[in-house]
Amino acid sequence: MFRDSVRSFMKNEIRPHADKWHEQGIVDREAFLKAGDQGLLLMWADEKYGGAGVADFRYEQVLIEENARYGDAGFFATLHNRLVGPYLGELGTEEQKARWLPKCVSGDHILALAMSEPGAGSDVAGLRTRAVDQGDHYLLNGSKTYISNGILADLVVVAAKTDPTSSHGLSLFVVERGMEGFERGRNLKKMGLKSQDTAEHFFNNVKVPKDNLLGEWNRGFYHLMHFLAEERLLGAVGYVATANEAFDITMDYVTERKVFGQTVAQFQNTRFRMADMRTEIDVAQAYVDQCVIEHNDGNLSAADAAKAKLFCSELEGREMDACVQFHGGAGYMDEYPICRMFLNARVSRIYAGTSEIMREIIARSIGLDPREKQVRPVGKEEAA
Ligand SMILES: Cc1cc2nc3c(=O)[nH]c(=O)nc-3n(C[C@H](O)[C@H](O)[C@H](O)COP(=O)(O)OP(=O)(O)OC[C@H]3O[C@@H](n4cnc5c(N)ncnc54)[C@H](O)[C@@H]3O)c2cc1C
Repeated sequence: MFRDSVRSFMKNEIRPHADKWHEQGIVDREAFLKAGDQGLLLMWADEKYGGAGVADFRYEQVLIEENARYGDAGFFATLHNRLVGPYLGELGTEEQKARWLPKCVSGDHILALAMSEPGAGSDVAGLRTRAVDQGDHYLLNGSKTYISNGILADLVVVAAKTDPTSSHGLSLFVVERGMEGFERGRNLKKMGLKSQDTAEHFFNNVKVPKDNLLGEWNRGFYHLMHFLAEERLLGAVGYVATANEAFDITMDYVTERKVFGQTVAQFQNTRFRMADMRTEIDVAQAYVDQCVIEHNDGNLSAADAAKAKLFCSELEGREMDACVQFHGGAGYMDEYPICRMFLNARVSRIYAGTSEIMREIIARSIGLDPREKQVRPVGKEEAA
């Protein structure tokens, strides 16, 4: 029943706007308000904040799957819901939760997470954004880039260096729309995910109130690491869902398109590659579902989340490429959905930790840790 209701929401309120959002480079705010009306935002939030109090990750999984199939890839409700929202829900004080969560549940406030900087993506220790305790407030200076929901966001969880003597000396701050000195830069032009607003943020002497420190002072690095497993699982769920959708639309295409008097599906090459694809997607889905169960039980390890993200994003990339190939020239045309899907998928191997960083985490988890033999610079994934 829940899946049906999410599906009709995606079909009626999201997909019809996809082309317009693609052209304008941003999703309308109303999409979040409508999702809020339907109870689809921050479903885990306690009822006293307007949420449903449903922590079970499978509800978010359904939302991601239905968005992949019937919604729009640039509608990042899940980033709002389960990637950034939990920072407020788990690290926030009672006062902060009462102040922020109700509007996040309703969709009046949209969330973003600002970690990456021009000089620091994989390497969080290289962050240069700085916050200094000024007694009655914190003074924030620096810049961020590639921030998803970056234009729409009303509340931005910003990671800043607060102890320059330590590579792990970070803290998290909630910067609110309208704070003096908080400026947004460009809505960045991208290869794919055209309807997603990915932006630059600038902080010039922003006076952040003491009440907007999120979590513990100088513990920001560990807070970030804590949420990364869930972030990667969210990714993996989405990548398998998109691969599945690409498979289905390609099945439709190859069974209809005739070449040399037969359908493309009748060539052995097509049948075998589609069979491989079906197998790989089903096997990936089984692993992802297992990770979801582990996550619901509080047992998903950073390494298993990294395996899911690595495998599913690489799988998605391979499948998209094959699906474009089966479409022939049509696959290169924007009017065919596979064209945008192919372009959207390229980022899956890059954001939320690149495939190389995933391999690094997994290698360490199997005992191949170069830090045991030599001193290395400390990176984003050290704590994983
Ligand atoms: C569309 C989009 C949306 C994004 N949204 C957000 C967001 O909302 N918030 C946010 O904070 N960030 C966001 N990002 C940033 C994203 O997380 C980073 O781009 C990503 O972590 C990679 O960092 P980087 O770009 O600095 O690449 P780099 O770290 O410079 O990597 C360059 C290359 O070096 C490789 N490399 C790096 N370290 C190692 C290593 N130890 N071993 C082997 N190879 C290595 C990488 O794998 C990559 O191939 C987004 C990015 C994109 C493209």
